[in-house]
Amino acid sequence: MDAAQLGALENLLAGDAGRCGLLLIHLRRRRALQARLGLAGQQALQVLLRDRIARLLRDGDQICAPGSAGEFAVLLPNLLSVGHAQMAAQRILREFEHPVEVDGHSVLINLAIGVALCPEHAVDAAGLSRSALLALDRAVLGGKRLEMAERSDLPGPQTEDLRHALLENQLGMVFQPQLDLRTGEVVAVEALARWHHPHWGDVAPEQFIRLAERAGLAGELTRWSLNAALRQHAQLRRRWPELACAFNLSPKSFGQTGLIEQILAALRLWDLPPRLLSLEVTETAVLEDPDYSGWMLGQLSAAGVEIALDDFGRGFSSFTYLRHFPVSELKIDQLFVNELASQKRDQQIVRSMIELSHQLGLRAVAEGVEEPCTLRLLTAMGCDRAQGYHIARPLAPEELHGHPCMESTGETV
Ligand code: C2E
Ligand code: CA
Ligand code: CA
Repeated sequence: MDAAQLGALENLLAGDAGRCGLLLIHLRRRRALQARLGLAGQQALQVLLRDRIARLLRDGDQICAPGSAGEFAVLLPNLLSVGHAQMAAQRILREFEHPVEVDGHSVLINLAIGVALCPEHAVDAAGLSRSALLALDRAVLGGKRLEMAERSDLPGPQTEDLRHALLENQLGMVFQPQLDLRTGEVVAVEALARWHHPHWGDVAPEQFIRLAERAGLAGELTRWSLNAALRQHAQLRRRWPELACAFNLSPKSFGQTGLIEQILAALRLWDLPPRLLSLEVTETAVLEDPDYSGWMLGQLSAAGVEIALDDFGRGFSSFTYLRHFPVSELKIDQLFVNELASQKRDQQIVRSMIELSHQLGLRAVAEGVEEPCTLRLLTAMGCDRAQGYHIARPLAPEELHGHPCMESTGETV
């Protein structure tokens, strides 16, 4: 696919397009046809193909002009079932079963179509186009008119693997300490999910969270993570009773019905005082439905749970959220922190963010602290808490017990 086609696909996947299909349509014997039709005839053929295919599509479907490889891309959002993409492809093939008239020539158009689906075959534009292209290659080489992408075409774990991982408890939780810069004590840990797949190895959280969201498993993943995090955190609290837990809420989990009840039930189940739970939300999460998110965060905040605005400064509308939501903490994005010691501009930005937090009565937490001098600078700037590889990497609960950063944390006696 060319850049314009990929761009259109990216836009489609970035929106709320549900299950999507991608058809890559190849015209067989293109060169022979081009030679026969001449330049004017070739252009007429392009227009005819485009118009006839477009007529067969639903509102909202999109046909992209062929790239240099000569393939049309058809994007099908909001498919009701897996079979609908195949049906659309078959409709197109049937349309060209009889010869058509192009610029005075009678031409038999012979097409091959490769089909791939999101999330069944891939969840991002690059993966989906690769899957459709491999399917198309199989059709062209195998003399078939239509081929569907196969799971074996794909680089990395898929929906079914995640479903299996959730059932089989393949996922794990690690905890990254947060240091109170005034006392030098670890006062909280952020729970971060991990997935080690037997074949694919470590899968990045961003990747499996997106997979879960596309596959309708976001609720399942939140339920699993919340319980895994609070269960292991309860063990940690036996030794460090005042240790707080930060938990990430993914954008799609916001829309889940019953999320508030689920969180409150988990607090009761693991006997965690609400003030020791901090829910980290990003503006993308809140953007999906600001009214509902505001209401939901208000309910949780009223129950005593803390709300942290994660990745602060990375997006465009962070300030809007400060106006509307009951936030108690700003997490300064690591983008501004990683190179703090060497970047004057970052220092000015971070200092302003800390001041802003304090003006609003919020706690400022810097993430991505990788160097000792960054920690010193943040302390001098009056930042409240810090988190990063210099203090500790995300650790398994048993590793936390032996880690030097936990030494001055208040223990039960
Ligand atoms: P995040 O919430 O911003 O988490 C911080 C990420 O920065 C973590 O990556 C952490 O390992 C990494 N990190 C911590 N200290 C440093 C540092 O000093 N330098 C650098 N370069 N990186 C550092 P991780 O664990 O890969 O998580 C990535 C993102 O995935 C998280 O970003 C969060 O948005 C999401 N995520 C992770 N676990 C969960 C989960 O259980 N549920 C949800 N909804 N999202 C999760
Ligand atoms: Ca976070
Ligand atoms: Ca963050």
